[in-house]
Amino acid sequence: MTNRKPLQPATADGANKLHNLDRLHHLHPFTDLQQYANKGGRVVSRAEHIYIFDATDKKIMDGMSGLWCCNLGYSQPTIVAAITEQLQTLPYYNSFFNCSNEAAITLAAELADVMPSGFNRFFFTNSGSEANDTNIRLVHRYFDILEKPQKRIFISRKNAYHGSTIAASSLGGMSAMHKQITGLTYVEHIEQPYWFENGGSNTPEEYGLIAARALEAKIDELGEENVAAFIAEPIQGAGGVIVPPTSYWPEIQRICDERDILLISDEVICGFGRTGNWFGCETYGMKPDLITFAKGVSNGFQPLGGVAVSDKVANVITTSDGEFAHGFTYSGHPAACAAGIATIALLRDSGILEHTRQHLGPYFRQRCQELSEHAIVGEVRTQGMLAAFELVKNKDSKERLGPDGSGAQFARDCAIESGLMVRAVGDSIISAPPFVCSNDEINILIDRLVAALDAASDEFG
Ligand code: PLP
Repeated sequence: MTNRKPLQPATADGANKLHNLDRLHHLHPFTDLQQYANKGGRVVSRAEHIYIFDATDKKIMDGMSGLWCCNLGYSQPTIVAAITEQLQTLPYYNSFFNCSNEAAITLAAELADVMPSGFNRFFFTNSGSEANDTNIRLVHRYFDILEKPQKRIFISRKNAYHGSTIAASSLGGMSAMHKQITGLTYVEHIEQPYWFENGGSNTPEEYGLIAARALEAKIDELGEENVAAFIAEPIQGAGGVIVPPTSYWPEIQRICDERDILLISDEVICGFGRTGNWFGCETYGMKPDLITFAKGVSNGFQPLGGVAVSDKVANVITTSDGEFAHGFTYSGHPAACAAGIATIALLRDSGILEHTRQHLGPYFRQRCQELSEHAIVGEVRTQGMLAAFELVKNKDSKERLGPDGSGAQFARDCAIESGLMVRAVGDSIISAPPFVCSNDEINILIDRLVAALDAASDEFG
């Protein structure tokens, strides 16, 4: 038996013990398991505001909001109180067999209030992955009811991340994941709108149209009558914060509208304020038919995800006989929904979202853009509270800083060592800080990033 008393205060001995138990017994997601079993990793013990503290009590500014989910930071007593109160009242009941609960009902109604107009129905899951599985089930059901059962194919994009179940990783376009799965046969992938990598001599706007028209070509190749939906993140997050050229989304919208293809906006990262508006589709003027959400909906304090279903789709699936044979034990879990209700209340009623859109986001963008002057920064991509810094050895030739993303990995490790959590994706450093940062904290984030870039420049430049 292991004694799970928290380490308070942190001791070197206690930290070592945890580190070893973790190494020996705990299998981690997206981790080199052999390396971890040998070396272990960082044990995070506590968090407050925008800082995490590891088991040795090292304080790290969290430039990633956890895993893009703790958008309001770690100190939100109203969310904690809402979860606690819910657990004391109704800790669990299911949503199967014509049952419901007040928290799930209230959250659905609150979501209808903050979602783009025309979204009034919500299916709850525990995660973004399950929500994207749900999308496949909903879309197939929709076309079956409309007596177009041959419309089965989903088109997605290379390097997209839509989750880690077999279905969600099939939808995603991560090559490392595809190497380890037998993917669904009815998913196809097109290019991502990654101008810096693929744009060649085209302007971003020209390239945005080219990348969007890859969808049209793929639909022609597969036959419009066979294609059900196109799924994409407004900004590809885990794929490296790929901010699309402004010409991209209007062209995608035109193609989906003309070809009777449902558009799914995966807002697991972009939703709940990350791009400056409630949803990324609003930032880009998209009109999706389904919206995937998770992460920020509960500020990461409870596992919660779901699908927002447009009236167009809902009016079909709610007016046909027969059971929708899909769901999870914890769909509409009361405590998770209570976290969602409290998170929406904070975003909407305390002015955080407004402040982020009007002040913090523009300030973050301005400070990030200054880094485009740095010797090893080839491009800065920002939108709202998202940023990517593409690292190069040579700005003209775009020669990468190091082989296989090693330059970005080196810079990331320097940043973490200096007390800033960021991520390396390919040749980019990415950041998605919480919306509760002050301008001074943004300045510290940028200072630490510059120091990490300087060190990477010395090492690889
Ligand atoms: N969709 C997107 C855009 C994501 O970024 C993620 C996770 O990072 C997912 C889906 C999967 O969400 P989850 O990890 O909650 O299953």
